[in-house]
Amino acid sequence: MSAPPVAAAGQVEARTVIRYTPEDAKLMLENASSVIIIPGYGMAVAQAQHKIRELFDVLTKRGVDVKFAIHPVAGRMPGHMNVLLAEADIPYDKLIEMDEINSEFAQADVALVVGANDVTNPAARTDKTSPIYGMPILDVDKARTVMVIKRSLNPGFAGVDNELYYMQKTLMLFGDAKSFVSEMVKEVQTLAA
Ligand code: NAP
Repeated sequence: MSAPPVAAAGQVEARTVIRYTPEDAKLMLENASSVIIIPGYGMAVAQAQHKIRELFDVLTKRGVDVKFAIHPVAGRMPGHMNVLLAEADIPYDKLIEMDEINSEFAQADVALVVGANDVTNPAARTDKTSPIYGMPILDVDKARTVMVIKRSLNPGFAGVDNELYYMQKTLMLFGDAKSFVSEMVKEVQTLAA
């Protein structure tokens, strides 16, 4: 099911993660009753918001509670994520600001990160030596399962590695956000209602 490991770039000691497929993602979503989607700059670059709306629709139709976690500096300008998700007609009441959603991650079956990086990095809470230490983050690592869509293990805007990617509960879904979410939609559509 999963393909060969992928190595992090530019590290003295290369760490590896497993590359998971859209089918693996479907298996994780099959029994999920709550999913939190975390959009970031990569969603904007890929223009993946309309495919995310399709994923929202297929999951909601299955009875899954789907919410979006909005970090105040996700993307490259204030309100970036709200604008893109509104453009895709995602209901406004499903967009939940960081301070409110953070207490919900521990009860979420799946946290699905779509092209976000720094705003999910637990080093901001735990690593005093990290340049992003003290930055408020989305507590994505507290969800039961984490899935991350991005193209590589390359860092985000702040230029730092993200421990989230090496956690045992994390599935790395490598690819362009728009095409990967599109494949996920097709997979979830094959599930029985
Ligand atoms: P981020 O930390 O820059 O991470 C974005 C991630 O998206 C990257 O790691 C990249 O990984 C991935 N990506 C890029 N193109 C993609 C594609 N086509 N498909 C899938 N993934 C793609 O972004 P963030 O988590 O949204 O955090 C925002 C950062 O920007 C913060 O550090 C914040 O301080 C800073 N910032 C924000 C503002 C603001 O006002 N919102 C202004 C200036 C700076 P790959 O390369 O591996 O795909």
